[in-house]
Amino acid sequence: MENLYKTKEAKDLDDLELRVYTSRLLGSNDSLVLHGGGNTSVKIGGTLYVKGSGWDLATIEKEGFSPTRTIDLIMLLEHERISDIEMVEYQRDALEDKSAPNPSVEAILHALIPYKFVDHTHADAMVTISNSHRGEDLIEEIYEGYLIVPYIMPGFLLAKMVYNMTDNIEWENIKGIVLHNHGIFTFANDAKESYDNMIESVSLAERYIKKLQKKKTHDLDKIQKLISECKGYEVSMRVNQSKVAKQIASKEDMRLSQQGVLTPEHIIRTKRIPIIFEDNYEKELNDYIKAYHDYFERNYIDEEIMLNPAPNWAVLKDFGTLSFGRDEKEASIIEDINNHTMKAMITAKKLGGYKSISEEDSFYMEYWELEQMKLKK
Ligand SMILES: [Zn+2]
Repeated sequence: MENLYKTKEAKDLDDLELRVYTSRLLGSNDSLVLHGGGNTSVKIGGTLYVKGSGWDLATIEKEGFSPTRTIDLIMLLEHERISDIEMVEYQRDALEDKSAPNPSVEAILHALIPYKFVDHTHADAMVTISNSHRGEDLIEEIYEGYLIVPYIMPGFLLAKMVYNMTDNIEWENIKGIVLHNHGIFTFANDAKESYDNMIESVSLAERYIKKLQKKKTHDLDKIQKLISECKGYEVSMRVNQSKVAKQIASKEDMRLSQQGVLTPEHIIRTKRIPIIFEDNYEKELNDYIKAYHDYFERNYIDEEIMLNPAPNWAVLKDFGTLSFGRDEKEASIIEDINNHTMKAMITAKKLGGYKSISEEDSFYMEYWELEQMKLKK
């Protein structure tokens, strides 16, 4: 996530002006806050200037921050429970200027955090991860050093929970607060630092998602083009994302595919092994072709003419498999064969591992006159 803070623009601003400045930076990014969401504050003396309801961070002015007595808000945490209506009343009572807007529903939590500047957003990237099936584990992994709070209703209950959770801990050891299914709080005694912390916190989640997406997407058109160029004709391509294809494409089992055919005659359709595509397709294809040449050289006897060295099927890391044929029919025959081979490879793991015929025997089969004749038909 881009950090929009410009030292030049923030020069000569007082604390409240700085609060307006970085609040607007947060508000300008709709992947951080949407339509009046999120809130910020600054403590000046004993007064908490916290975003007032009805204001939008993107366009907030100084008057959008409600001056509230910090200590009065913190005192509310002595209550075991108060209703939302009571909370709004108490918060209004704590206002130093009764014409100011109602303080944000998160005002008590802002008061509780012992730093001058407090920033709160509902960052898409972080809530996306939190709202996933493995959300709890992933947030734990990504947000090391943060206080991680399980979901609870915003407002008094949330403030009370953070109050209890931070009872015995040093705030200086907390990088920020991650609220499950809700958002992030960051803080510092400096406006820029609190904003920087927010950008960094959101970037942690964004980088995680990016890494994940990088693993999962492949440029299928590009692969089809590369294979077609190599074969000298436009190949038909079949995409297989069945459970077994995905398993063979997993990091753990990818190498299983490199161990040879299930039964000798398959080799005329599938070649001995598929190519594995991870990210650098050109290089991976060149390496495959070079390895095919080496295989030919190693096993060549006398009269064989090398077949086209391009692969007939491919394993795409973290995606599935592809089968390439002259036409749809040939591609689907290759896919059928692969499905059986992959299943056997996975099952054979339980039998101590998959083991095919030797490379030499494979070569005899691939270049066997009778098989070559079958192909020509
Ligand atoms: Zn919130």
